[in-house]
Amino acid sequence: MFRIEHKDQSCKARTATLELTHGEFNLPAFMPVGTNGSVKALHHQTVADMGTRLILANTYHLYLRPGIDVIRAAGGLHAFTGWPHNYLTDSGGFQIFSLAPFRKITPEGVRFRSHIDGSYHNLTPEKVVELQVGFGSDVLMPLDVCSSADETRDGVEKAVAITTNWARRSAAAWKNSAEETNGQLFGIIQGQFHRDLRRRSAEEILELDTPGIAIGGLSVGENPEIFEEMTEFSAGLLPENKPRYLMGIGTPDYILAAVANGIDMFDCVYPTRIARNGSVFTSAGLLDLKKSRFEKDFRPIEEGCTCRACQTYTRSFLRQMFKCNEILGPMLATEHNLNFLHRFLNDIRSSIRQDRLAMFRRDFLKTYRQENAE
Ligand SMILES: [Zn+2]
Repeated sequence: MFRIEHKDQSCKARTATLELTHGEFNLPAFMPVGTNGSVKALHHQTVADMGTRLILANTYHLYLRPGIDVIRAAGGLHAFTGWPHNYLTDSGGFQIFSLAPFRKITPEGVRFRSHIDGSYHNLTPEKVVELQVGFGSDVLMPLDVCSSADETRDGVEKAVAITTNWARRSAAAWKNSAEETNGQLFGIIQGQFHRDLRRRSAEEILELDTPGIAIGGLSVGENPEIFEEMTEFSAGLLPENKPRYLMGIGTPDYILAAVANGIDMFDCVYPTRIARNGSVFTSAGLLDLKKSRFEKDFRPIEEGCTCRACQTYTRSFLRQMFKCNEILGPMLATEHNLNFLHRFLNDIRSSIRQDRLAMFRRDFLKTYRQENAE
């Protein structure tokens, strides 16, 4: 299912292919987030036309609405949504901890209240696997506990212990569902910024021999140096021959740091969320299209970009769309941002094949600024 094609001699990056039930694609790859089964503001066809073959959908949201009964009755998530390519579904844990107005971890699982109607729910690791099997997910994620950046060491150690226990139960439930699913379970490594806890978590999760491995609990507010140091350390604990997924990153600088340290997959709401607020990627950095300086700027967002926003519309008109709250604004900005990342990942993969990712990274960061280009 996972084949490494080339290892860059200038850093730890690699290109690979990953074959899942709904098709094969190249790594490293960015996964757009499709919370409710679709990438917000885009047609499936637009997402697929960019070459995207894997999107991330949120178990927490789909579980609460429409619910597993509707998705099962539809014939699974692919049939329900009409997306013919792969889905990775998260475990819902992150949303429970960030969105639910009440949640309590017990050894059994997690009890929480819905942010939609206040109703109480219990999810266990087994139930979370059962939901994703019901969705027909191509990649399934186990319920875990992600520590925040300010969690105490003691708290992180407890979170690692629960994460391991839940991962074991998830792996058993996944194996028991082998007849019902072709989806692949990825184990998740936690441990925040403590090397010994990361190592312990990695050893315990790797014992389960899941088809892929995810690194969780990074990019939670730490500075970029700690992020890269922990990414390098965590990736160094992993076997070569499995896909590595770093959860929750989606800015060009973090993507480069991750890929240079041997990460294959990543996801984040960031590129699509900022697009809906009028912020777009360019190779010089972010542009906020709502700013008055774009009022008479009749250039495209970025010269040379092949997306429909750049082929047809000017910064001035896009600003007008955002100022007037027209739906077309978020649609075009989202299309541009995902197109930008798609081209960016193409450049990354070809740089790796030429053993020059380290140079590409240096050159890219010379002109790219995370805040306010121009
Ligand atoms: Zn564009």
